[in-house]
Amino acid sequence: MPASRPRGRESKVAMQARAREILKRLKKRYPDAHCELDHRNAFELLCATILSAQCTDARVNLVAPALFRRYPDVEALSAARPEEVEEIIRSTGFFRNKTKSLIGMANAVVDRHGGDIPASMEQLKVLPGVGRKTANVILGNAFGINEGVTVDTHVGRLSRLLRLSRNTDPERIERDLMALFPQRDWALLSHLLIFHGRRTCIARRPRCGECVLVDLCPSAQL
Ligand code: SF4
Repeated sequence: MPASRPRGRESKVAMQARAREILKRLKKRYPDAHCELDHRNAFELLCATILSAQCTDARVNLVAPALFRRYPDVEALSAARPEEVEEIIRSTGFFRNKTKSLIGMANAVVDRHGGDIPASMEQLKVLPGVGRKTANVILGNAFGINEGVTVDTHVGRLSRLLRLSRNTDPERIERDLMALFPQRDWALLSHLLIFHGRRTCIARRPRCGECVLVDLCPSAQL
């Protein structure tokens, strides 16, 4: 039976079929979905992800090149003077906390991992300024490891609108998504939902009339 918009309570099997169809359509709609934070390596992506808290990717992409010119690697960043970092990243907001996270992260990577960004959830998520969400971004995009699903504001919002999760806590939403989608697609799924959330299912003004998920979405406004 083809997947369709759920009416009332949806069985697990029906929800999984709907999730598969959602994934298929989003892949077709956004074949170029990718991480929109510019980066050349794991170090740059880690810094950019720390900077992206409460800030747009476009602003981070404007600011980060100056940071990487001044501090091209963890060693350089670990020895940075906080005032200098603050000045460079000021326009991304929360610049004092972000400076603490950046320098703290760099020091921890130098001290604990000999200067190499670790490629494991356990080691990444305990670095200063890095939690599970940021660790998922690094693992999925810098190392090609699908350990979890990055749940940002778009992924959380769309998961609820599409009724793939009823939770509000990001880690619970992540668990719900991991149970519905194949592991090989977890990093991509996050990009697809973010692309959709930025281009079509825009907060407070979703373009349901032009949405490829309209017949699968319990929140469609027609
Ligand atoms: S149908 Fe509307 S609410 Fe549902 S995903 Fe599409 S744009 Fe968002």
